[in-house]
Amino acid sequence: LPRILSGMQPTSDSLHLGNYLGALVNWVKLQDEFDAYYFVADLHALTVPTEPAVLRQRTRVTAAQFLAGGVDPKRSAVFCQSHVTEHAELGWVMNCLTGDGEARRMTQFKDKVAKGQNANVGLLTYPMLMAADILMYDAAYVPVGEDQRQHLEITRDLAERFNSRFGATLVVPDAYIVKGSAKIMDLQDPTAKMSKTGSSPKGLIDLMEDPARIAKNIRSAVTDTDGEVRYDPDTKPGVSNLLVIHSVLSGTPVDKLVATFAGRGYGDLKKEVADVVVERLTPFQERMRELLDDPAELDRILADGADRAREVARATMARVRDAAGLLPSA
Ligand code: ATP
Ligand code: MG
Repeated sequence: LPRILSGMQPTSDSLHLGNYLGALVNWVKLQDEFDAYYFVADLHALTVPTEPAVLRQRTRVTAAQFLAGGVDPKRSAVFCQSHVTEHAELGWVMNCLTGDGEARRMTQFKDKVAKGQNANVGLLTYPMLMAADILMYDAAYVPVGEDQRQHLEITRDLAERFNSRFGATLVVPDAYIVKGSAKIMDLQDPTAKMSKTGSSPKGLIDLMEDPARIAKNIRSAVTDTDGEVRYDPDTKPGVSNLLVIHSVLSGTPVDKLVATFAGRGYGDLKKEVADVVVERLTPFQERMRELLDDPAELDRILADGADRAREVARATMARVRDAAGLLPSA
Protein backbone atom coordinates (compact mmCIF):
# COMPACT_ATOMS: atom_id res chain seq x y z
CA LEU A 1 0.00 0.00 0.00
CA PRO A 2 1.23 3.55 -0.69
CA ARG A 3 2.11 5.47 2.44
CA ILE A 4 0.38 8.52 3.85
CA LEU A 5 1.25 10.66 6.82
CA SER A 6 -0.61 13.30 8.77
CA GLY A 7 -0.50 14.90 12.20
CA MET A 8 -2.20 17.24 14.64
CA GLN A 9 -0.72 19.47 17.27
CA PRO A 10 -1.56 19.03 20.96
CA THR A 11 -1.99 22.81 21.30
CA SER A 12 -5.24 22.78 23.24
CA ASP A 13 -7.15 20.63 25.71
CA SER A 14 -9.13 19.06 22.89
CA LEU A 15 -9.38 18.99 19.12
CA HIS A 16 -12.23 20.98 17.56
CA LEU A 17 -14.82 20.28 14.92
CA GLY A 18 -12.55 21.69 12.18
CA ASN A 19 -9.86 19.12 13.02
CA TYR A 20 -12.52 16.42 13.09
CA LEU A 21 -14.33 17.24 9.84
CA GLY A 22 -11.34 18.65 7.96
CA ALA A 23 -8.91 15.89 8.89
CA LEU A 24 -9.87 13.07 11.24
CA VAL A 25 -12.88 11.70 9.33
CA ASN A 26 -10.67 11.53 6.25
CA TRP A 27 -7.89 9.78 8.13
CA VAL A 28 -10.33 7.08 9.13
CA LYS A 29 -11.44 6.48 5.54
CA LEU A 30 -7.89 6.53 4.18
CA GLN A 31 -6.81 3.65 6.41
CA ASP A 32 -8.46 1.27 3.98
CA GLU A 33 -6.41 2.38 0.98
CA PHE A 34 -3.10 3.40 2.51
CA ASP A 35 -0.36 2.42 4.92
CA ALA A 36 -1.12 5.30 7.28
CA TYR A 37 1.11 7.09 9.82
CA TYR A 38 -0.77 9.44 12.16
CA PHE A 39 1.13 11.39 14.77
CA VAL A 40 0.67 13.86 17.59
CA ALA A 41 2.89 16.81 16.67
CA ASP A 42 4.24 17.48 20.14
CA LEU A 43 7.46 19.08 18.82
CA HIS A 44 5.37 21.53 16.82
CA ALA A 45 3.33 22.26 19.94
CA LEU A 46 6.48 23.50 21.69
CA THR A 47 6.21 26.61 19.50
CA VAL A 48 3.44 27.61 21.92
CA PRO A 49 4.84 27.97 25.48
CA THR A 50 2.97 25.40 27.60
CA GLU A 51 3.26 23.95 31.11
CA PRO A 52 4.91 20.50 30.87
CA ALA A 53 2.07 18.73 32.70
CA VAL A 54 -0.44 20.38 30.40
CA LEU A 55 1.49 19.37 27.29
CA ARG A 56 1.66 15.76 28.51
CA GLN A 57 -2.08 15.67 29.11
CA ARG A 58 -2.88 17.31 25.76
CA THR A 59 -0.64 14.87 23.94
CA ARG A 60 -2.48 11.90 25.45
CA VAL A 61 -5.87 13.47 24.76
CA THR A 62 -4.98 14.17 21.14
CA ALA A 63 -3.82 10.59 20.60
CA ALA A 64 -6.96 9.29 22.29
CA GLN A 65 -9.07 11.49 20.03
CA PHE A 66 -7.51 9.93 16.95
CA LEU A 67 -8.63 6.56 18.28
CA ALA A 68 -12.05 7.73 19.46
CA GLY A 69 -12.59 9.21 15.99
CA GLY A 70 -11.99 5.80 14.42
CA VAL A 71 -8.26 5.49 13.71
CA ASP A 72 -7.39 1.82 14.14
CA PRO A 73 -3.94 1.39 15.72
CA LYS A 74 -3.73 -2.17 14.40
CA ARG A 75 -3.70 -0.86 10.86
CA SER A 76 -2.30 2.66 11.23
CA ALA A 77 0.82 3.66 13.17
CA VAL A 78 -0.25 6.15 15.86
CA PHE A 79 2.69 7.86 17.55
CA CYS A 80 4.23 10.97 19.10
CA GLN A 81 6.49 13.01 16.87
CA SER A 82 9.11 13.48 19.61
CA HIS A 83 9.46 9.70 20.04
CA VAL A 84 10.96 9.45 16.60
CA THR A 85 13.97 11.73 17.00
CA GLU A 86 14.74 11.59 13.27
CA HIS A 87 11.99 14.21 12.76
CA ALA A 88 14.10 16.87 14.47
CA GLU A 89 17.21 15.79 12.58
CA LEU A 90 15.61 15.98 9.18
CA GLY A 91 13.96 19.25 10.22
CA TRP A 92 17.43 20.71 10.69
CA VAL A 93 18.45 19.58 7.24
CA MET A 94 15.32 21.26 5.83
CA ASN A 95 16.12 24.50 7.70
CA CYS A 96 19.46 24.56 5.97
CA LEU A 97 17.76 24.38 2.57
CA THR A 98 15.28 27.19 3.27
CA GLY A 99 15.80 30.88 2.59
CA ASP A 100 15.12 33.28 5.43
CA GLY A 101 12.71 35.34 3.33
CA GLU A 102 11.00 32.20 2.10
CA ALA A 103 10.18 31.16 5.66
CA ARG A 104 8.94 34.62 6.61
CA ARG A 105 6.52 34.69 3.69
CA MET A 106 4.47 31.72 4.94
CA THR A 107 0.95 32.97 5.57
CA GLN A 108 0.35 30.87 8.69
CA PHE A 109 3.44 32.39 10.30
CA LYS A 110 2.32 35.88 9.34
CA ASP A 111 -1.25 35.24 10.57
CA LYS A 112 -0.15 33.84 13.91
CA VAL A 113 2.24 36.72 14.48
CA ALA A 114 -0.43 39.24 13.45
CA LYS A 115 -2.77 37.65 16.00
CA GLY A 116 -0.18 38.30 18.67
CA GLN A 117 1.32 34.82 19.07
CA ASN A 118 4.84 34.99 20.42
CA ALA A 119 7.07 34.51 17.40
CA ASN A 120 9.87 32.19 18.43
CA VAL A 121 12.17 30.76 15.79
CA GLY A 122 10.32 27.43 16.10
CA LEU A 123 7.18 29.08 14.77
CA LEU A 124 9.15 30.48 11.85
CA THR A 125 10.67 27.11 10.98
CA TYR A 126 7.47 25.15 11.58
CA PRO A 127 6.99 24.44 7.85
CA MET A 128 10.51 22.98 7.64
CA LEU A 129 9.80 20.56 10.48
CA MET A 130 6.49 19.75 8.82
CA ALA A 131 8.36 19.05 5.58
CA ALA A 132 10.61 16.68 7.52
CA ASP A 133 7.59 14.92 9.05
CA ILE A 134 6.22 14.22 5.61
CA LEU A 135 9.40 13.45 3.67
CA MET A 136 10.56 11.03 6.36
CA TYR A 137 7.92 8.50 5.34
CA ASP A 138 8.27 8.67 1.56
CA ALA A 139 4.61 9.60 1.67
CA ALA A 140 2.90 9.59 -1.71
CA TYR A 141 0.10 11.74 -0.33
CA VAL A 142 -0.53 13.96 2.62
CA PRO A 143 -4.13 14.36 3.69
CA VAL A 144 -4.32 17.91 5.06
CA GLY A 145 -6.97 20.58 5.24
CA GLU A 146 -7.06 23.52 2.85
CA ASP A 147 -5.26 25.62 5.48
CA GLN A 148 -2.12 23.50 5.03
CA ARG A 149 -1.85 23.75 1.25
CA GLN A 150 0.96 26.33 1.34
CA HIS A 151 2.99 24.22 3.75
CA LEU A 152 2.64 21.27 1.47
CA GLU A 153 3.89 23.35 -1.41
CA ILE A 154 7.04 24.29 0.46
CA THR A 155 7.48 20.63 1.37
CA ARG A 156 7.46 19.76 -2.31
CA ASP A 157 9.89 22.59 -3.06
CA LEU A 158 12.27 21.44 -0.34
CA ALA A 159 12.16 17.81 -1.51
CA GLU A 160 12.92 18.92 -5.07
CA ARG A 161 15.69 21.22 -3.84
CA PHE A 162 17.27 18.41 -1.83
CA ASN A 163 17.05 16.03 -4.77
CA SER A 164 18.52 18.47 -7.26
CA ARG A 165 21.38 19.35 -4.95
CA PHE A 166 22.18 15.87 -3.64
CA GLY A 167 20.61 13.43 -6.11
CA ALA A 168 17.24 11.67 -6.04
CA THR A 169 16.66 10.84 -2.37
CA LEU A 170 13.28 12.11 -1.22
CA VAL A 171 9.80 11.34 -2.54
CA VAL A 172 7.92 14.48 -3.63
CA PRO A 173 4.44 14.14 -2.11
CA ASP A 174 1.09 15.30 -3.42
CA ALA A 175 -1.60 16.98 -1.37
CA TYR A 176 -4.56 14.74 -0.75
CA ILE A 177 -7.32 17.23 -0.22
CA VAL A 178 -10.20 14.83 0.07
CA LYS A 179 -13.09 15.73 -2.22
CA GLY A 180 -15.80 17.49 -0.33
CA SER A 181 -13.48 17.91 2.62
CA ALA A 182 -14.49 20.91 4.60
CA LYS A 183 -12.72 23.93 5.94
CA ILE A 184 -14.64 24.85 9.08
CA MET A 185 -14.74 28.50 10.03
CA ASP A 186 -14.72 30.23 13.41
CA LEU A 187 -18.31 30.64 14.69
CA GLN A 188 -17.65 34.18 15.87
CA ASP A 189 -15.46 35.25 12.94
CA PRO A 190 -16.56 33.13 9.98
CA THR A 191 -13.94 34.67 7.71
CA ALA A 192 -11.19 32.99 9.77
CA LYS A 193 -10.73 29.24 10.10
CA MET A 194 -11.66 27.54 13.35
CA SER A 195 -8.34 27.08 15.15
CA LYS A 196 -7.08 25.70 18.45
CA THR A 197 -4.80 28.63 19.07
CA GLY A 198 -6.58 31.35 17.09
CA SER A 199 -10.26 30.94 18.02
CA SER A 200 -11.97 32.17 21.16
CA PRO A 201 -13.90 29.58 23.23
CA LYS A 202 -17.15 30.84 21.69
CA GLY A 203 -15.69 30.63 18.20
CA LEU A 204 -15.03 26.93 18.23
CA ILE A 205 -16.74 23.62 18.82
CA ASP A 206 -14.57 21.65 21.20
CA LEU A 207 -15.04 17.90 20.67
CA MET A 208 -15.21 17.31 24.42
CA GLU A 209 -17.59 20.16 25.21
CA ASP A 210 -20.78 19.53 27.10
CA PRO A 211 -23.73 19.24 24.60
CA ALA A 212 -25.64 22.15 26.13
CA ARG A 213 -22.62 24.41 25.71
CA ILE A 214 -22.11 23.23 22.14
CA ALA A 215 -25.71 24.12 21.33
CA LYS A 216 -25.24 27.50 22.98
CA ASN A 217 -22.12 28.28 20.92
CA ILE A 218 -23.95 27.34 17.74
CA ARG A 219 -26.97 29.48 18.73
CA SER A 220 -24.71 32.48 19.17
CA ALA A 221 -22.79 31.93 15.92
CA VAL A 222 -22.40 35.11 13.88
CA THR A 223 -24.63 35.16 10.78
CA ASP A 224 -25.98 38.17 8.84
CA THR A 225 -29.09 40.31 8.66
CA ASP A 226 -30.41 39.11 5.35
CA GLY A 227 -32.46 36.33 6.93
CA GLU A 228 -32.33 33.84 4.08
CA VAL A 229 -30.67 30.43 4.42
CA ARG A 230 -28.44 30.33 1.37
CA TYR A 231 -24.92 29.06 0.59
CA ASP A 232 -22.63 31.93 -0.36
CA PRO A 233 -19.30 31.88 1.49
CA ASP A 234 -18.32 35.36 0.22
CA THR A 235 -21.35 37.34 1.33
CA LYS A 236 -22.80 34.93 3.92
CA PRO A 237 -19.80 33.23 5.54
CA GLY A 238 -21.54 32.48 8.85
CA VAL A 239 -24.63 30.82 7.38
CA SER A 240 -22.51 29.00 4.80
CA ASN A 241 -20.29 27.61 7.54
CA LEU A 242 -23.32 26.25 9.41
CA LEU A 243 -24.60 24.67 6.20
CA VAL A 244 -21.24 23.01 5.59
CA ILE A 245 -21.09 21.60 9.13
CA HIS A 246 -24.61 20.21 8.77
CA SER A 247 -23.95 18.86 5.30
CA VAL A 248 -20.78 16.98 6.21
CA LEU A 249 -22.27 15.48 9.36
CA SER A 250 -25.69 14.60 7.95
CA GLY A 251 -24.40 13.54 4.55
CA THR A 252 -26.95 15.83 2.86
CA PRO A 253 -25.60 17.84 -0.11
CA VAL A 254 -25.64 21.59 0.60
CA ASP A 255 -28.14 22.44 -2.17
CA LYS A 256 -30.61 19.85 -0.86
CA LEU A 257 -30.15 21.19 2.62
CA VAL A 258 -30.78 24.76 1.49
CA ALA A 259 -34.05 23.61 -0.11
CA THR A 260 -35.25 22.14 3.20
CA PHE A 261 -34.71 25.55 4.83
CA ALA A 262 -36.77 27.51 2.30
CA GLY A 263 -38.96 29.94 4.23
CA ARG A 264 -37.31 29.03 7.55
CA GLY A 265 -35.00 31.19 9.64
CA TYR A 266 -31.52 30.99 11.10
CA GLY A 267 -32.90 29.80 14.44
CA ASP A 268 -34.11 26.57 12.80
CA LEU A 269 -30.81 26.10 11.01
CA LYS A 270 -28.84 26.54 14.22
CA LYS A 271 -31.08 24.11 16.09
CA GLU A 272 -30.59 21.40 13.44
CA VAL A 273 -26.86 22.00 13.26
CA ALA A 274 -26.59 21.64 17.04
CA ASP A 275 -28.58 18.39 16.85
CA VAL A 276 -26.37 16.78 14.20
CA VAL A 277 -23.19 17.88 15.98
CA VAL A 278 -24.30 16.55 19.37
CA GLU A 279 -25.54 13.32 17.84
CA ARG A 280 -22.08 12.67 16.39
CA LEU A 281 -20.10 13.80 19.42
CA THR A 282 -21.99 11.89 22.11
CA PRO A 283 -20.56 8.43 21.24
CA PHE A 284 -17.17 10.04 20.55
CA GLN A 285 -17.08 11.50 24.07
CA GLU A 286 -18.11 8.18 25.55
CA ARG A 287 -15.24 6.38 23.82
CA MET A 288 -12.86 9.12 25.02
CA ARG A 289 -13.78 8.48 28.62
CA GLU A 290 -12.94 4.78 28.18
CA LEU A 291 -9.61 5.53 26.52
CA LEU A 292 -8.52 8.05 29.13
CA ASP A 293 -9.41 5.58 31.87
CA ASP A 294 -6.64 3.29 30.63
CA PRO A 295 -3.53 5.44 30.10
CA ALA A 296 -1.24 2.38 30.13
CA GLU A 297 -3.00 0.95 27.09
CA LEU A 298 -2.76 4.32 25.34
CA ASP A 299 0.98 4.53 26.06
CA ARG A 300 1.41 1.00 24.76
CA ILE A 301 -0.29 1.94 21.50
CA LEU A 302 1.97 4.99 21.17
CA ALA A 303 5.09 2.94 21.87
CA ASP A 304 4.11 0.40 19.26
CA GLY A 305 3.35 3.16 16.73
CA ALA A 306 6.73 4.79 17.39
CA ASP A 307 8.51 1.47 16.78
CA ARG A 308 6.86 1.15 13.40
CA ALA A 309 7.55 4.77 12.49
CA ARG A 310 11.18 4.64 13.64
CA GLU A 311 11.92 1.77 11.32
CA VAL A 312 10.97 3.85 8.28
CA ALA A 313 12.56 7.03 9.69
CA ARG A 314 15.94 5.37 10.26
CA ALA A 315 16.10 4.16 6.70
CA THR A 316 15.23 7.60 5.33
CA MET A 317 17.79 9.35 7.53
CA ALA A 318 20.49 6.91 6.43
CA ARG A 319 19.77 7.89 2.80
CA VAL A 320 19.69 11.59 3.68
CA ARG A 321 23.00 11.40 5.59
CA ASP A 322 24.65 9.59 2.77
CA ALA A 323 23.36 12.00 0.12
CA ALA A 324 24.19 15.17 2.07
CA GLY A 325 27.69 14.08 3.05
CA LEU A 326 27.14 13.39 6.74
CA LEU A 327 29.12 10.36 7.84
CA PRO A 328 26.95 7.32 8.51
CA SER A 329 26.23 6.81 12.21
CA ALA A 330 27.20 3.46 13.64
P1 ATP B 1 -3.30 25.51 15.68
O1 ATP B 1 -4.19 26.72 15.90
O2 ATP B 1 -2.49 25.12 16.88
O3 ATP B 1 -2.51 25.58 14.40
P2 ATP B 1 -5.26 23.96 14.32
O4 ATP B 1 -6.66 24.08 14.81
O5 ATP B 1 -4.89 24.71 13.08
O6 ATP B 1 -4.34 24.32 15.53
P3 ATP B 1 -3.59 21.73 13.57
O7 ATP B 1 -3.11 20.78 14.60
O8 ATP B 1 -2.66 22.79 13.07
O9 ATP B 1 -4.94 22.43 14.12
O10 ATP B 1 -4.12 20.92 12.32
C1 ATP B 1 -4.55 19.55 12.40
C2 ATP B 1 -5.32 19.18 11.15
O11 ATP B 1 -6.61 19.80 11.18
C3 ATP B 1 -4.67 19.62 9.83
O12 ATP B 1 -4.84 18.58 8.87
C4 ATP B 1 -5.46 20.83 9.42
O13 ATP B 1 -5.49 20.98 8.01
C5 ATP B 1 -6.84 20.50 9.97
N1 ATP B 1 -7.61 21.69 10.32
C6 ATP B 1 -7.27 22.61 11.26
N2 ATP B 1 -8.22 23.56 11.34
C7 ATP B 1 -9.17 23.24 10.43
C8 ATP B 1 -10.42 23.85 10.04
N3 ATP B 1 -10.85 24.95 10.63
N4 ATP B 1 -11.14 23.25 9.09
C9 ATP B 1 -10.70 22.11 8.50
N5 ATP B 1 -9.55 21.49 8.80
C10 ATP B 1 -8.78 22.04 9.76
MG1 MG C 1 -2.85 24.83 12.40
